[in-house]
Amino acid sequence: MAENNIDATSEAPSDFIRDIVRGDLDAGRHTDIVTRFPPEPNGYLHMGHAKSICLNFGLAGEFGGRCHLRFDDTNPAREEQEYIDAIMEDVRWLGFDWGTHLYYASDNFEQLYAWAEHLIEAGKAYVDDLSAEDMREYRGTLLTSGRDSPYRTRTADENLDLFRRMRAGEFGDGTRTLRAKIDMASGNINLRDPVLYRILHADHPRTHDAWCIYPNYDFAHGQSDAIEGITHSVCTLEFEDHRPLYDWLIENLPVPAIPHQYEFARLNMTHTVLSKRRLMELVDGGHVTGWDDPRMPTISGMRRRGIPAAAIRDFAARIGVSKSNAVQEVAALDACVRDYLNQRAVRRMAVLKPLKVVIENYPEGDGEMLDAINNPNDESAGSRQVPFARELYIEADDFMEEPPKKFFRLGPGREVRLRYAYFITCTDVIKDQAGNVTELRCTYDPETKGGNAPDGRKVKATLHWVSAAHAADAEVRLYDHLFAAEEPGVEGDYLSDLNPDSLEVLTGCKLEPSLADLAPGETVQFERLGYFCRDADAGVFNRTLSLRDTWAKAKSKG
Ligand code: ATP
Ligand code: MG
Repeated sequence: MAENNIDATSEAPSDFIRDIVRGDLDAGRHTDIVTRFPPEPNGYLHMGHAKSICLNFGLAGEFGGRCHLRFDDTNPAREEQEYIDAIMEDVRWLGFDWGTHLYYASDNFEQLYAWAEHLIEAGKAYVDDLSAEDMREYRGTLLTSGRDSPYRTRTADENLDLFRRMRAGEFGDGTRTLRAKIDMASGNINLRDPVLYRILHADHPRTHDAWCIYPNYDFAHGQSDAIEGITHSVCTLEFEDHRPLYDWLIENLPVPAIPHQYEFARLNMTHTVLSKRRLMELVDGGHVTGWDDPRMPTISGMRRRGIPAAAIRDFAARIGVSKSNAVQEVAALDACVRDYLNQRAVRRMAVLKPLKVVIENYPEGDGEMLDAINNPNDESAGSRQVPFARELYIEADDFMEEPPKKFFRLGPGREVRLRYAYFITCTDVIKDQAGNVTELRCTYDPETKGGNAPDGRKVKATLHWVSAAHAADAEVRLYDHLFAAEEPGVEGDYLSDLNPDSLEVLTGCKLEPSLADLAPGETVQFERLGYFCRDADAGVFNRTLSLRDTWAKAKSKG
């Protein structure tokens, strides 16, 4: 595990971004800090976005400032209202609130357009007719300088005229662009006359057909920061080389404020892909059931799987923020989830692979309610009553006809404890014609009610169980890593690293009756099995996690 996976403490988090913010406040450069989370609504949010959300909203919370939610909606070709709605739901679910500060880059289209004309009038932007292909060719490479476009010397008047006609819809997609006039010989390719506007006749989710030219990220982002009064514009490292352009635009435009950009390392995780483009391919290719498939590293997928928002926030705090790229173990997130759920999740009994048990000396037709503790880690969770009767289910795996040495659970002639109930002894094994065990006959010791023998005798195993007559039926979905490879795609196509066994569906599972009333989205511990979340589909449970990290075990075995 990476060394920055330190345990969360109650101390205020500290990292280079927070140091910068503290420094700015101490020096009086700002009195209030304002951050923003700026998703492009072209997909659902994933765990990487969660890191950015926790950082930006976290900064605002810790330093008494505010954080805006801003949709970076400058590419109508890929953006949809569905994504806007899902993003808002996910940010709220993570526990953050932008209050009244909801913005869209598209709110600024008119102002951005005016600033583009301002650059043209100042001789700092021009309309270029080069095709995308030619433009690439003229741009040069990291090793060679670029060449000026033949259209670079157009007069301001000519540029203004053309730019206005671009806006008016006179030209086709891709035929002209507006470019900043900076330096085609710059060592930073982002400064080689970057494109600011392109022609795109597409319906925009918010402005519809009002525009057929759209600012690109670089022109929209910093200027939106300035308009909103963002003090610290925090983004991921791949934008580091864009910072000189960010600053150039701020310097050369009559913006109302001077924001600054800071970059941190994006989150990468083992057995996971964190890119909307790839996640969209998984959805479109039918490799998962949707963006909210519980195997997806999306916020909606994790929510559906039963991962608590608090565990995600805890993970973000534990991994911290730095400038060096690293890959976090997905097991580190699992550890946060287990820590949280072990304290909070109520315990219930569920039998995933049922084996019928008949207690022969328990009177037919009789039954009783037994007291079961809801959460040994939380006394305030109290207890509940579970029905016990003559016919029960236990886990098929908890019985072996010929138990090997280290198997201490039920076998012929053996005595075990049924949790919260009685000691039982297996007296007979019933099989079908193929020799499969179909039913066990047992006796119980009425003196052991509650799970202890008055004579002090011990048993080596305690099993969970469910009363057959009272059980609720369920389908239980067991999930494993969506990708078997630790780093999907390092050797070839990432899709070839998909784990063929990432989903196992169990039907005919038997649950204690109280689970029939569990609300969708609630996560409980099935005793001895793991954490499970009630799906929106009635009668379906998703396994959040097993109780222990079985991958670590498998790995150490080699
Ligand atoms: P993707 O590469 O998955 O498409 P993106 O960066 O294009 O993501 P945006 O919607 O533009 O997605 O991202 C919104 C914010 O989330 C940006 O500030 C971006 O830097 C941040 N972000 C995206 N991915 C990660 C990540 N893996 N780790 C940390 N922050 C991220
Ligand atoms: Mg992006």
